[in-house]
Amino acid sequence: MMGDGPNGKAKWAKYKIEDGQLVRSESCPSCGPGVFLAIHADRKSCGRCGYTSANE
Ligand SMILES: [Zn+2]
Repeated sequence: MMGDGPNGKAKWAKYKIEDGQLVRSESCPSCGPGVFLAIHADRKSCGRCGYTSANE
């Protein structure tokens, strides 16, 4: 099948491996779907608007 095109690598930017599990990134509640939060050890942050959410 040829649905994804040659640059299928891009989709992996929406996922990360954490403790051996595949974790889907959360989107920013301010920017909306399509803007994903950067996941850090103790927080998540949006590189676009500066939104930060601490992990509980
Ligand atoms: Zn944002």
